[in-house]
Amino acid sequence: MNHHVESVFSRRTLSDIYQEIRDVYLANAMPWVVGYSGGKDSTASLQLIWYALRDVPRAQLRKPIYVIATDTLVETPLIVDHVNHNLGNIGRFAREEGLPMTVHRLTPKVTDTFWVNLIGRGYPAPHSRFRWCTERMKIRPADEFIVSKVAQHGEVVLILGQRRSESQARAQVMREYRITGSRLSRHSTLPKAYVYTPLEDFTTDDVWTYLLTVPSPWHGNNRDLAALYRSAQSGECPLIVDLSTPSCGNSRFGCWVCTVVERDRSMEALIDNGEEWMIPLLEFRDFLAATQDPERRREVRDYRRRDGLVHFRKVQSGEDLIRGPYRLEFRKELLTRLLQVQEQVRREKPELNLELISPAELYEIRRLWRIEAHDWEDSVPAIYRAVTGRDLPWPQEDGAVFGPAERALLAQICAEEDVPVELLIALIEQQRDQHLPTSRSRIVERIDEVLRREWRSEQEVLAAVEHYFPFVEGKVSATKGV
Ligand code: SF4
Repeated sequence: MNHHVESVFSRRTLSDIYQEIRDVYLANAMPWVVGYSGGKDSTASLQLIWYALRDVPRAQLRKPIYVIATDTLVETPLIVDHVNHNLGNIGRFAREEGLPMTVHRLTPKVTDTFWVNLIGRGYPAPHSRFRWCTERMKIRPADEFIVSKVAQHGEVVLILGQRRSESQARAQVMREYRITGSRLSRHSTLPKAYVYTPLEDFTTDDVWTYLLTVPSPWHGNNRDLAALYRSAQSGECPLIVDLSTPSCGNSRFGCWVCTVVERDRSMEALIDNGEEWMIPLLEFRDFLAATQDPERRREVRDYRRRDGLVHFRKVQSGEDLIRGPYRLEFRKELLTRLLQVQEQVRREKPELNLELISPAELYEIRRLWRIEAHDWEDSVPAIYRAVTGRDLPWPQEDGAVFGPAERALLAQICAEEDVPVELLIALIEQQRDQHLPTSRSRIVERIDEVLRREWRSEQEVLAAVEHYFPFVEGKVSATKGV
């Protein structure tokens, strides 16, 4: 692809490049934050830094170097092992060599993880038009780390493995933020953070040439890395710092659940290479991807958005409601299937000790279902027990006072009175949820908010839309005047 791009080594020697890195390091007191993804580019830039600084007298190596790796908690299992193994070695050999380098594995907060959003809140599987995952699982953890180091040191330099030859767009962004006359660029969103890209003039071939001719200083295995690329037939998901970074969806060592790509060729290639235990993972991913089909979307997603309102658009065949989150019933199915996959892989590959979803995520999903989806049945512990035959130390819930018996009773009364039972439940929860409001107007406001949500069935809403807005186009809240 980049055959027309000239090799960096036709213009510069490796010692020139090392010298530049030393100059940038010694030029000021700003600590370095190095993004490490385990992929070829970040491996190459960390390796360059290592060799460059190894020759500096230790007394001059005063600035800390924080090596950070973001783990989305849904990374392809083989990649996680590769990254964790290397991180361990980087920390250990850096200490042995007296380099001021420490490693930090960053993960999303429990409220930002893939499963909590997908299963807990019902966010639909990520799509190129709604890629909610990258921001929550990659950008936020890295940004928070960088901001904390800015707070501690005043300013920081972020080292990224970006290369101009990746794409025109990449080259353009790199030009745009460059500080004139400097090797540093401004960070696109974080003040007091600068970016240094030691690899910017490398071609893909240069990166491989460097990795395969110069041994890894932390005793990593660059040949294994090359083999991993070959078997995964893909690029990498670099450290993402903002949404201008190329999508991890198209060339990646990305998440095993990723539905931004139409087919997960990297997981398919790994399976073809003998990693057959991954088949249930691939099937789960495909099951998730199928929820994006228009037909299936209607089945699995609510006709109301998360705010409880209905939005619709005019399409050729009439109106189409813009779908909201996954229905609770479907989230239950997702959780069941996910736990089944986890059990199956644990049986087949016990040595991997695979954890696809953590107890902390299960607790949070349970909490969200109870509060937002009014799951009076308390389904999460029941599903967990049904699939695994085990229990978890589920946290005691102070607020949970109603159960299936109360729901059944309420349903009976509501049927007699012809009131939607979900409306009653929402009103009850709304009043229980607020922390003892003092003003009457506040209570009325909250009741009003519940009443404003859509409580009619999908068919009733569609009929009303057809009746009142036969010519409307675009997105309208159907509750207004329907
Ligand atoms: S690899 Fe896919 S699922 Fe993972 S963060 Fe990137 S776009 Fe989202």
